[in-house]
Amino acid sequence: MFSRLKGCRVRRQDMSNEVRNVIIIGSGPAGYTAGLYTARAMLNPLMFAGYMSGGQLMLTSDVENFPGYPQGIGGPEMMMDLRAQAERFGLEIQDRNVGSVDFSQRPFKVESEGEEFYADAVIICTGAEAIWLGVEGEEAQKGRGISTCATCDGAFFRDEEIIVIGGGDSAMEEATFLTRFASKVTVIHRRDVFRASKVMYERAANHPKIEIQTFRSVKKWLSDDNGLTGAILEDPRDGSEHEISCTGAFIAIGHKPITQFLEGQVETDDEGYLIHSEHTMTNVAGVFAAGDVVDTRYRQAITAAGQGCAAAIDAERWLEDNLH
Ligand SMILES: Cc1cc2nc3c(=O)[nH]c(=O)nc-3n(C[C@H](O)[C@H](O)[C@H](O)COP(=O)(O)OP(=O)(O)OC[C@H]3O[C@@H](n4cnc5c(N)ncnc54)[C@H](O)[C@@H]3O)c2cc1C
Repeated sequence: MFSRLKGCRVRRQDMSNEVRNVIIIGSGPAGYTAGLYTARAMLNPLMFAGYMSGGQLMLTSDVENFPGYPQGIGGPEMMMDLRAQAERFGLEIQDRNVGSVDFSQRPFKVESEGEEFYADAVIICTGAEAIWLGVEGEEAQKGRGISTCATCDGAFFRDEEIIVIGGGDSAMEEATFLTRFASKVTVIHRRDVFRASKVMYERAANHPKIEIQTFRSVKKWLSDDNGLTGAILEDPRDGSEHEISCTGAFIAIGHKPITQFLEGQVETDDEGYLIHSEHTMTNVAGVFAAGDVVDTRYRQAITAAGQGCAAAIDAERWLEDNLH
């Protein structure tokens, strides 16, 4: 009831530049959930969905671990549902990218395709991109035989042979996790030195289902009509080639948060992830962040959605306390 009173709280900077209560940047699970909550709170939110409207789940066929779908659901279908639910309560969506922002004064300025938009609060939900290898045959198998998320897709490969690419903690963790499902896991690493911590490396290396192959990089993925069948590996020392069979592959060579367009405007860690200063608020009062753009640990749709909810509630309370 209380939040309904805020519906009329859109103020105007001048006749042409409406100042929104909230602008949401990004339309993955975090963005749509923030959109749903701020729309239901009558904050008149505007979302910039970006060119990849729907976010990372648009790249996957089956989501089996988002609560509420007992039979699982296609990623794109789920994202359409989230969008429709938020739109039902009045979320306004622009399917375009934000090019730059100016958070140096309020109202905050958000620029998209040369146009300027203003808001008293901004929620950043621009996610992170998994880094792929970019080798031949990869595009066709993305989200099918080749994945970047063992928690998400490991269970699809029961009793199958899987390879994991990478030499850091993530690769070791994913390989160890995948032994629950796979008959065999082979870790492929291009050097014989590992970035992984000793304890993580040893846990993987000592596991009876895991084999570690060093001085190997993927040159090409192999597949047939049924999906992934293997890969051609190359020894970077002499260029010799070796074929490996597998029906699943997990690339664990890192993620890149999408924060380049925010450079100099809001605090990030060394890798570019946004940092929460107080609850979901960044170091800039009135600028909030949710989902994979701040999350170096969980990277799941449900955790992103949960943070989107938290950011919306934090933004609502912050506006209540700080807007005249
Ligand atoms: C192949 C694959 C399968 C997965 N499977 C599962 C699964 O089964 N279960 C699960 O829980 N998780 C899964 N995940 C992980 C899950 O997709 C992410 O954790 C989740 O999507 C993160 O949500 P997000 O809202 O933070 O960001 P994202 O989903 O990454 O969305 C980011 C949004 O920001 C927008 N954007 C970026 N830059 C700009 C800009 N400058 N201006 C405007 N908009 C911008 C993009 O268009 C996009 O809409 C999977 C991921 C991948 C890649």
